[in-house]
Amino acid sequence: MSSVVDIFFLFWLGSEWIRPFRQTFGSAVGQRKRHLGYSQHVGFQDFIGNATAVGHLRESIRVDRFPHSMILAGPKGAGKYTLAVMLAQAVNCTEKPLTDGLPDFCGACANCVRIGESRNLDELVDAAVSARDEMRDTDKRETRVLIQTHPDVLIVPPDPPQLLIKLGQVRQAIHVAYYRPPIEARRSFTIFTSSAFMKEAANSLLKLLEEPPEHTSLILLTENPQELLPTIRSRAVIHRLGALAPAEIEAVLAQRRPELSARDRALTARLAEGAVGRALGIELSAYLAGRQEALLILRTALRDPDYTALFHVTETYRGGADGQQKTVNLLRAMGALVEDLLLTIAGTPELVRNVDIAAELAKLAEGLTVEWIDGAARALGQVEQGMRRNLLRSLSLDAMAVGLERN
Ligand SMILES: [Zn+2]
Repeated sequence: MSSVVDIFFLFWLGSEWIRPFRQTFGSAVGQRKRHLGYSQHVGFQDFIGNATAVGHLRESIRVDRFPHSMILAGPKGAGKYTLAVMLAQAVNCTEKPLTDGLPDFCGACANCVRIGESRNLDELVDAAVSARDEMRDTDKRETRVLIQTHPDVLIVPPDPPQLLIKLGQVRQAIHVAYYRPPIEARRSFTIFTSSAFMKEAANSLLKLLEEPPEHTSLILLTENPQELLPTIRSRAVIHRLGALAPAEIEAVLAQRRPELSARDRALTARLAEGAVGRALGIELSAYLAGRQEALLILRTALRDPDYTALFHVTETYRGGADGQQKTVNLLRAMGALVEDLLLTIAGTPELVRNVDIAAELAKLAEGLTVEWIDGAARALGQVEQGMRRNLLRSLSLDAMAVGLERN
């Protein structure tokens, strides 16, 4: 087994593959990377939640009936992509370990390592897109982004800037499925990471689903299967991943983020809205900093329209990347607070996300109406629009604060 790990991005240009760049890690780096990347993340035990759905899929591998065409549906952050990559690893792992009597993957054989390299999808897509941006204009238009870290596993992300899956990408998936039997894998995989297809692309995909080739599995990831053509849905097996309950996410946080206090875990779990991946990545201090200022704006608008302190805060929102991130944090926190106020006046305070300040939210919500919520949501939208047009941030935040006053 070679200890060299290759990662390459592929583009499909006209009728030939091009590899604009290729990174090769030498054996020392490869070993270290493997150690860091996989020692704590091997096997389905690391996939959190949705045990029943995962069990069914592993059982289908055990009896050698893994679907040719599968839709993996679930909310954002439920782990659809992570699971799809794990399944491709489990089908093709050369060590074939079993856990709980079901197929698992070792994370260390050549197939597991190379397929596993596609886990950092966002980074790979960003790198591929910036490589495409460097091309000549005429080539750029013809070039479609595809990610392939293993010769038999093709990842098809929505193609920017429209973020749709395009005809050229589906054509390549068809080419791979029909004319290129797997070389190193038992079964080749094509994973479409979005269900937003251009019309011609969807029609083309349909042809592939009508006569699926023997040694290929197609996996379509979607938040909402209804977005797919009914004819596509009817030709694929649908597996669903559900959002996790806050208590389940809190249990994971207790294990994986021991630095968080019980109170912080409760808040983080609710902010993640059922997505364990998001919960593991939330930077609570940044959220809390934004929320503190969002609360100040709300208190000023709802209780004591004395704007001195407020203007002092909004003045600190200046231009540049720092100011941009700060504003994004403020708006995110304000959005969560306004939704919580709505949940409170709707009589479902048990659903609020900012659980640690539920008592203050109840006080702020006194006397608020649905019309106020509506106006607040509009005021937030206006600041977001203003940001896109580069309006002076401090001024548009002041305008928002005034818009939040009780009328
Ligand atoms: Zn393996």
